[in-house]
Amino acid sequence: GFNCGIVGLPNVGKSTLFNALTETASAQAANYPFCTIEPNVGRVAVPDARLAELARIGRSQKILPTSLEFVDIAGLVRGASRGEGLGNQFLANIREVDAIIHVLRCFEDDDITHVEGGVDPIRDAEIIETELMLADLESLEKRIVALQKKARGNDREAAAQVELMEPLIEALREGKPAREAIPEGQEEAVRRLQLMTSKPVLYVCNVDEGSAATGNAFSERVRARAEQEGAAMVVVSAAIEAEVSQLGAEDRVEFLEGLGLKDSGLDRVIAAGYRLLGLNTYFTVGPKETRAWTITEGTKAPQAAAVIHNDFERGFIACETIAYDDYIACNGEAGAREAGKLRIEGRDYVVQDGDVLLFRFNV
Ligand code: GDP
Repeated sequence: GFNCGIVGLPNVGKSTLFNALTETASAQAANYPFCTIEPNVGRVAVPDARLAELARIGRSQKILPTSLEFVDIAGLVRGASRGEGLGNQFLANIREVDAIIHVLRCFEDDDITHVEGGVDPIRDAEIIETELMLADLESLEKRIVALQKKARGNDREAAAQVELMEPLIEALREGKPAREAIPEGQEEAVRRLQLMTSKPVLYVCNVDEGSAATGNAFSERVRARAEQEGAAMVVVSAAIEAEVSQLGAEDRVEFLEGLGLKDSGLDRVIAAGYRLLGLNTYFTVGPKETRAWTITEGTKAPQAAAVIHNDFERGFIACETIAYDDYIACNGEAGAREAGKLRIEGRDYVVQDGDVLLFRFNV
């Protein structure tokens, strides 16, 4: 599965957000696959309005959304790369996640200490980013020494690694995150280096309750920065989300409307995390259940089948495919078949977001 690490300075609202995420999920446990893997790791359902539509038309008994894992990574402070706070321990946790959710404090509250003195999300973002850049730089500088030695001994693999690392080291030395220096076509090779600053980032602005619908001056500054960086950003009030997570589905809608909100901030965080990771969803629809499955963009049919079961990839023959819009417009599989909207696709087919699939395979 794919996961997002929640990082940020102390007292910005990380745990509040994480708990709201996982409590919402556990409240819905009857319908949603959820488990707490470790105290700081939670799996949450990815909201997708298409599921209910498909289940209605397909007369499914059950809906199973796909899920995303969140990791609450505490202990990040100024000086972490030198071992302050939990130091290297938690840096190792960040290396292992696929994307970073960076929570920024955008609320004032005199009762809640800000470790850096006052509220300033841009400064906070820079403190964290600097720690991550320093740790990445140190890790690359350490690794490149041995590789350069091997490269001088005509080790071509090592030479290629050195070539990959050099521009990244240069960028980090100039105070730029590795993600700004990834050479064209080298995304996968860079990903394998497990650098923290090459991972995609979503800024989550944690604003006061009164600003949840509109954002505030602090979150506007973050928005400007995110736009400049090409990063994603979402405005939430963790305090509101904590309340929402305690409510049943119907009360939830009413509560949110009362605050001028269309959907919960958590839903937006989950959806943004999903997009950040470059993930797509395909569906399987049957009388027993309508289910969403996660693949990365560009995944071909046999590998998409493997998400359901490894044997499906090995024995893959073909897949019957109906685009989501066609499935709805034709009122289901039979109608789509009649209208010529059901396609038989082979092993080179790149599965599209929203495809309704039925795999044919040998066992
Ligand atoms: P963490 O250290 O980043 O995990 O921060 P916590 O989630 O533990 O929050 C620190 C404190 O700030 C707690 O007392 C929270 O109740 C409070 N807090 C979190 N989010 C908000 C918010 O949106 N508004 C206000 N007023 N307080 C918040």
